[in-house]
Amino acid sequence: MSAGTADVDRKLLDAIERLGRALRAARQRIATDLGLTTLQIEIIDRLDHLGPLPVGQLARELDVSQPTASDAVAALERKLLLERRRSPDDGRITIAGLTDTGQASADRIRDGLRALRPRSDDSRALDRGTALEVLLQEILRLQEAGVITINRSCLSCRHYQPPADGNPAHCHLLDTRLETHELRVDCPDHATADPES
Ligand code: SF4
Repeated sequence: MSAGTADVDRKLLDAIERLGRALRAARQRIATDLGLTTLQIEIIDRLDHLGPLPVGQLARELDVSQPTASDAVAALERKLLLERRRSPDDGRITIAGLTDTGQASADRIRDGLRALRPRSDDSRALDRGTALEVLLQEILRLQEAGVITINRSCLSCRHYQPPADGNPAHCHLLDTRLETHELRVDCPDHATADPES
């Protein structure tokens, strides 16, 4: 790797870290407004995006321990924002899902985070697509290194066919082409490429 490439890699990581700090600060402001912790709003956000989930999976989604996730779920249940029930398939598993009040909180969280999105600028779509692909490759690299547990992006999905012979990538599940700017970061239809992983 040349010195120039290493320098760009370091600046890329610095930029991601800076963006991450800004997003964490924004989440903290939303959490404070709602009287919740940032972990609690992340749980509401996950349940809103993916539907009811086992508490163990919630812990893996958020890269926290199961006791930490269980405490946050219990606190949200006391606030009447979610409810827990036993899995009909396995009585040892507890499933958490949003109540109507929790769904209203999820809507407020989504609205608050929407304000952080960049204004769309079609003239930069190709640049943004390339940047997105680079970031997804980094997420995949960190997943393979064991740093990231859950990766729901196209690049790790078994429905994903990479670009070849001048043709763009393709999603076999949705039967649609995927230009780089259309790659998904957090797809609810994602299927892990290796069922054993
Ligand atoms: S199912 Fe979702 S994650 Fe998988 S390739 Fe299609 S769009 Fe991407």
